[in-house]
Amino acid sequence: MQLRLVLLTWLCSFSLYMMAQPPANQKNYFRNPLGIPMQLSANFGELRPNHWHMGLDIRTEARENLPVYAAAEGYVAKIGIRAQSFGRFIIIRHPNGLSTLYAHLNDFNSELEAYVTAQQYKQESWAVELDFTPDQFPVSKGSFIAYSGNTGGSKGPHLHFEIIDTESDKRLNPLLFNFPMNDDIPPVLLRLAVYDRSKATYAQTPLFYLLKNTDSGYIIPKLPVLKTGLTQVSFAIQAHDRMSGGGSDNGIFSAKLYFDDQPQLSFVLDSIDYDETADINSHIDYRYDYNGGAYFQHLSQLPGDHCPIYKHISGDGVINLPDTNQHLISIDVKDAAGNTSQINFTIQHDDSLALIPTPQSGAMKFAPNRVNIVEKEDFKLELTPRSIYDTVPVLYYRNSSTNYNAVSATHQVNDASYPVHGDLRVSIKATKPVPAEWKDKLIMLRSSKGNTMRKVQLKDGWFTASFGDFGTFQVLADLTAPQINELGKGDTINLSSASRIVFTPADNFGIVKNFRVELDSQWLRFTNDKSRNWIYKFDERCPYGVHQLTAIATDMAGNSATKTWWFRRSEYTPPPPKKKSVKKTTNKSAGAKKTATKKPKATAVKKPAVKKKK
Ligand SMILES: [Zn+2]
Repeated sequence: MQLRLVLLTWLCSFSLYMMAQPPANQKNYFRNPLGIPMQLSANFGELRPNHWHMGLDIRTEARENLPVYAAAEGYVAKIGIRAQSFGRFIIIRHPNGLSTLYAHLNDFNSELEAYVTAQQYKQESWAVELDFTPDQFPVSKGSFIAYSGNTGGSKGPHLHFEIIDTESDKRLNPLLFNFPMNDDIPPVLLRLAVYDRSKATYAQTPLFYLLKNTDSGYIIPKLPVLKTGLTQVSFAIQAHDRMSGGGSDNGIFSAKLYFDDQPQLSFVLDSIDYDETADINSHIDYRYDYNGGAYFQHLSQLPGDHCPIYKHISGDGVINLPDTNQHLISIDVKDAAGNTSQINFTIQHDDSLALIPTPQSGAMKFAPNRVNIVEKEDFKLELTPRSIYDTVPVLYYRNSSTNYNAVSATHQVNDASYPVHGDLRVSIKATKPVPAEWKDKLIMLRSSKGNTMRKVQLKDGWFTASFGDFGTFQVLADLTAPQINELGKGDTINLSSASRIVFTPADNFGIVKNFRVELDSQWLRFTNDKSRNWIYKFDERCPYGVHQLTAIATDMAGNSATKTWWFRRSEYTPPPPKKKSVKKTTNKSAGAKKTATKKPKATAVKKPAVKKKK
């Protein structure tokens, strides 16, 4: 057993070492996927809510529709269309064991676009995930594959680009692949946080020190020796990195902690698995960030964290101060190009500064690496041994509920300020008989930092559901169907001047699970980028004439709403712009300007008025 553990540790550190730099034959393998010089708005390993950034965000000059090219030869292995996350994306598989991913795209090239449209109509779904065989869409290095865009979870035009180890599906740091970008600027270190590791990191506010850059590296200014009453400490840093030639504040690549010049622990953001990316919540000081503070990256591994970004050289990064001597702490921080910044300071234990330990309360706690359960008469919350990163105090409150559609009391376990790895499982018993007609309409609602809802399973009198966060839980009957906006007025609506149809279905619990529109009883493709509006742009699927349109919206509980309209489309020539209104738009008085800019908004569904004179 001992030997196996040693071997496993050795293998782990070996593979980590192997991965730190890709093999030479891969290093200059890829080209810039855009036709403009590469500049980043985000790098690999940058800190984001609940995940590390898994690729590069490549700037597109704040514009959409720049051509995107295959970074190397291979074949299109996957195309996906999602309302959130990557939006419209392509994965290309290359013969060297790597794949590349291109996300937030607009139109694919015409061949791919035609294929995807046909598949959408075949599957009767706008959102699709399509896999391809090598012979279907082969590409050469530099083949045009799509136009860049801002689809999915993107908040501004850019190209999201990932490099994937095809077999393991791990994401590799693209900055280790010699893309044409210069970087000779070392990371910037802002603040140091010091933790008392005689207790949980969640049970304290660390001490913060501003850092200052000097000729001999970063120091804690005006503090020649950091004297502390603590005997067990750990550190975290606030840092960012910038590349040469502009760009924004991005994430650092690695950091290594030394105690009296002896390396203790490091973290390296050279590769991350999507299964591991939520472990960022143990890498950062989660509660400090949750409460509005900045991201601090721990230079110690929390006891319940199993993510392999940390490399233990001598322990887990918790430093014991064994005596009252002065000890040297150093932290090396690197970017992917190898530029290094270093913090040096002296720490010394001083007994006179030791705080009298507060007596341990007998209150319930969740501990890492074991099964944790809260069990009450009509409530149960279960955690797996992997759920908790560090010891969490448990607060439980129960409140009876008088809401007419409530089936249970409300049960609160903590709030979302403590991170949970994976899912926690909640079971609740009803506090009143459930009417038969409600049985299919039951959902469990979790609230704290927003709401999440799940359809419940019923087993042995318990309603169960799984969630990703703590909060307040309750079983409710959702008896309200979604709402669908009107297409227009009249028996046969005239849509001749419209360029598109927009629906914004809404639900009382915020989630419309299914939305389907049929034109003359045939499924019609409405796009749903960013989950809110469903949009159909008139195309050859809707020829001139009179048509029937039916929209059906269904929520998670299965409540459904259906609306049907008749509409007519015939040839339409927009009226020529009146001379007077042209004058108005050039009139610089505030009032006229307002009406001029407002007008297109109100007629968003109509074809834009002819403006070709410009
Ligand atoms: Zn991105």
